[in-house]
Amino acid sequence: MSEKKTKYIFVTGGVVSSLGKGIAAASLGLLLKKRGLKVNMIKCDPYINVDPGTMNPFQHGEVFVLDDGSETDLDLGHYERFLDQNMTRENNVTTGQIYHTVITRERRGDYLGATVQVIPHITEEIKECLRKPAKSDPDTDVIIVEIGGTVGDIESQPFLEAIRQMALEAPPEDTVFIHLTLVPYIATAGEVKTKPTQHSVKELLQIGIQPKILVCRTAKELTDSIRKKIGLFCNVPYKHVISAVDVETIYEVPLRFHMEGLDTAVCEHLKLDYGEPDMSDWEEMVAKIKSPRQRVKIAICGKYVNLKDAYKSIIEAFVHAGEENDARVDLIWVSSEDIKQYGADKFLSDIDGLLIPGGFGERGVEGKIEAIHYVRENKIPFFGICLGMQCAVIEFARNVCGLEDAHSYEFYADLKHAVIHLMADQEGITNLGGTMRLGAYRAILDKSTNTYKAYGADEISERHRHRYEFNNAYREMYADKPLKLAGVSPDGRLVEIVEVTNHPWFVGVQFHPELKSRPTRAHPLFRDFIAAAVAYLVKKNDDLAGTADLQLEGLGLREKR
Ligand code: GLN
Repeated sequence: MSEKKTKYIFVTGGVVSSLGKGIAAASLGLLLKKRGLKVNMIKCDPYINVDPGTMNPFQHGEVFVLDDGSETDLDLGHYERFLDQNMTRENNVTTGQIYHTVITRERRGDYLGATVQVIPHITEEIKECLRKPAKSDPDTDVIIVEIGGTVGDIESQPFLEAIRQMALEAPPEDTVFIHLTLVPYIATAGEVKTKPTQHSVKELLQIGIQPKILVCRTAKELTDSIRKKIGLFCNVPYKHVISAVDVETIYEVPLRFHMEGLDTAVCEHLKLDYGEPDMSDWEEMVAKIKSPRQRVKIAICGKYVNLKDAYKSIIEAFVHAGEENDARVDLIWVSSEDIKQYGADKFLSDIDGLLIPGGFGERGVEGKIEAIHYVRENKIPFFGICLGMQCAVIEFARNVCGLEDAHSYEFYADLKHAVIHLMADQEGITNLGGTMRLGAYRAILDKSTNTYKAYGADEISERHRHRYEFNNAYREMYADKPLKLAGVSPDGRLVEIVEVTNHPWFVGVQFHPELKSRPTRAHPLFRDFIAAAVAYLVKKNDDLAGTADLQLEGLGLREKR
């Protein structure tokens, strides 16, 4: 039986960072999948951390947790959302992992006295990692490998050398290099500039890589003559110089790429004979995202609200949920420290829903608790995620159950009322890397809750990333109060979801639902949270209209209804 050969697409980036390489790679992945190919993706991260789990999300962006519990780069989130396909730890390779493996092997004596070097030992290990998903699933047609960072960085050189070797070792139709660059528009000159792209390609050529396709990020559609010029200087046929114009929503990127012929160019290079992709569901979705019937305002209250990459999946989950409710979700970022200082009313009186996201550390927690108090009393829809759920429990214990000093053991070890605590099996852990409750866990739902209504299922599975838990010692205390344990672990030991019942929609979850929301399949809790926000807004407007009518009637300007 002849084994199927997996082909490789290598995506590099040049000129500047933040060009959206992850979205470009994921969009290409989607187009190939829609053509009927079996696609997988790998993100190579050149940092020395073994995984981003120990990195500050406000520097590096969100940590994207997979079902298998691995903590990965946020680009894996784009891969899962665009391809609608679950990733595993094989899909994220870091310099830290590579060196960890090579050094462990060296200590064992596996290199038999050889001097261990970047070439060949590190590059061989990188190649091994890039081949792994093809070995795990031999039916894979193509693997898209995205190299993090910008060409020219010292850190990414071993990865570039490894992919250069992989291309050299395979027939030409088995690999293709795509380079993503920026073609800036200089307003004072009134024209776009191709020089940065030329320099970036030169940088690649110096290390032996000739890109076959250029994807050029640009504010204005590139004219044929500009594409010809870029093609000529970069040694790429002009038809394979693709213009990637800025778009309104990232979900439009695959549609644009297809129009520009990116997937056709890739298939030509790789000699893949597959039909046109059927993008009708995406076209419909994008049309809905672009022209919603209504708008709702959701406040997100966190410690730092400036770096939106730290909340990437939450932002996307709101796009998906908005689309399914035919609503644009306007996100209002509120600093929890401002709430503490100036009061909740100043920031939250006009919103249609409040979301408190996950987080670590005590800073800003009191402001979050105050915000929750405000929306619980004013019956504004609330959604708490992880730390957000823990804060909701603290708020309830303090203001409804009267435990004034209720708090989380995360912040104070000598608490009288640690309503959020450490599980016995977490005590004594000192290593911070990879020691939280991580990955997919099942939960059983209470049928009388809004959560159950949303999922429409008795049992669910969601992804976790936290150390602290709802403290079972207080379960009894809530029994006669309007706080319901809406979901618990199958063995009943862990409380995964709480709901306030004398409220239209108040749900707190210990897991991260945002990680499983997909553009064509919004997460049920995000979807219903937005539905509740829409209902809240409609009622608010009706009440306002009613009050206005009464005032007009009072003034004799309108007849009584
Ligand atoms: N800091 C909390 C814990 O470790 C919550 C974590 C989170 O929100 N991801 O339990």
